Order: sequence, then structure tokens, then C-alpha cells
Amino acid sequence: MPDLAYLNGDIMPIEKATVPIEDRGYQFGDGVYEYIASYAGRLFMLGAHLDRLERSMGGLDFPPIPRSRIKAAIVDLFERAGYDRAGIYIQITRGVAPRNHAFDPTLSPQVVMTIRQINALPENLHRDGITAITVRDIRWGRCDIKTIQLLANSLAKQKALSEGHSDAIFISDQNVVREGTSSNLFIVKGGQLITHPLTPNILPGITRMAIIDICRETDLKIDESFFTTDALYHADEVFLTGTVTEVMPVTQIDGRCIGDGNVGPLTRKLYDGLRQKALAGA
Ligand code: PMP
Repeated sequence: MPDLAYLNGDIMPIEKATVPIEDRGYQFGDGVYEYIASYAGRLFMLGAHLDRLERSMGGLDFPPIPRSRIKAAIVDLFERAGYDRAGIYIQITRGVAPRNHAFDPTLSPQVVMTIRQINALPENLHRDGITAITVRDIRWGRCDIKTIQLLANSLAKQKALSEGHSDAIFISDQNVVREGTSSNLFIVKGGQLITHPLTPNILPGITRMAIIDICRETDLKIDESFFTTDALYHADEVFLTGTVTEVMPVTQIDGRCIGDGNVGPLTRKLYDGLRQKALAGA
């Protein structure tokens, strides 16, 4: 089965799917997206992704699309592709119109999806951890909306790669540690986890939510509060979370070793916990 695309109700091979050049997503980045993964033939946390998609659309004043319609399209695409381990990308833009900053509130949103088989990240990354750099957070003030405007994220990721690292971590003007370029960030200090609270400055990650659930279920202390680069550098463990990233240990940041430089026990435990949750079809 080839990788498939969904385009406003029609399903076709990805290379056959095209959008008009006056789509506002193309011209203004006026769109939102989701990325959902499946494990062993089951979509992981579909409901939470649909909740966030609705919130993102509401955040940009898009007219609502019935949840049942989006859900049915996702499930149909997933079943047709038949992949056990699939990644589904869903993008909704405000619509197609002659280029103008102002928009017609009655425009019809354009819904595009693609499905591809997920190639697991190299196993050694999860086993040995990655290295990262910090970058100034130059993003806009609504990072809680999952928009397709990812230029700052893209440039930061590229900077990390060009300097021989795997990812970049956004830091505010006041030195508050925000998140990764496509992941949330947790630190461990003295057996307790800390992650940035849900504010407009970070994306409310679905994996972040799953990790917090696992912490509560297993009596691990988790604190959602602000912390600075100083706490980041002096953490016992640091890891990133995301749908693609899962739980990714970070063992070195800006050239400084985190803890003893090895992947820590809580990071491992939460990686295993997330995998178990996903395979159980939570
Ligand atoms: N933060 C940012 C900036 C992201 O792009 C992502 C992934 N889309 C995440 C966090 C993690 O979100 P999730 O766990 O829902 O994939």
C-alpha cells in the first residue's frame, strides 16, 4: 500500500495531492496541524489530539468542523493504509482566497492529511541520549496554538544539526527553559520531575500529558513550574517528549554534561512506561 493523502474528502497517493497556490496556509502560514502516531495498529491518544486540534482552530477563529467528520476521515485513512506503526499528519488551513492579510470569516477550511509508516528513531538515541544546544525563544506569544508557522523551530533545529547536535531548547529572555523545537522538556532533580507549566509559551504536548499521567499513577513527584538554565544545567536528568520523540534522554547541553552524562533511571522508566501505555492502546 502506498503512502496516502486525504484532500478535502478524497484519498489518493501522496504524490497526486496538490493544493492551490492561494491557500492561506501556503501564503500566510494560516493553518493548524496535528501529528498522531499508532502503535501495533491502534491510534495513540486520538481523543486528546482531536481536543487540541479543536482548541487550535478556535484559537485562530476558524469556523468549527464537526469532530465526527475529522475523526472519521482519520480512521478511514488509517484503515486504508493498514500500517501498524503509522504517522498521520493533519493540516487544516483557513481556506483559499486572493491574497489579502484580512480574511473572509466564511471561507471554507481546507483539510489535508498524509499517512506514512513511521521509521523508528535509531535505537541508540534512546539508549545513549542526545546532545542539545540552547537558543533564544524568538517565537510568537501563542505557542500553545499548534500552527503550521514553524520557522523559528525549523531554524533552531537546523542550527543544532549544523553544530553537530540533535536538537535545540528554547530559552526565554528571562532565562526560563521553555521546550524543544518539536518536544516538551522535563528535568529530574532529587527524584522529582519538573516541567514548564501550561502557558501560551509552550505547546500542551500530548506526550507531556501522558508522562504526567504515568507519574501520578506511579507516585512519582511531578511539579509544573518555571525553571531557568541554571536548573537545566544542574539537573540529574533531562529528557524531551513528543509524539515522534517519545521520551528522549538529553545527556549534554551547551557542552555541559547532565548528571553523570549517562541516561538516568527515571528517564528510562518513563520511556518504558510510555511504550507500555501506547502498546496497551491507552
Ligand atoms: N512542543 C512543540 C513545539 C512541538 O512541536 C511538539 C510536537 N508537535 C511538542 C511540544 C510535543 O507535542 P506532542 O507530545 O503532542 O507530540
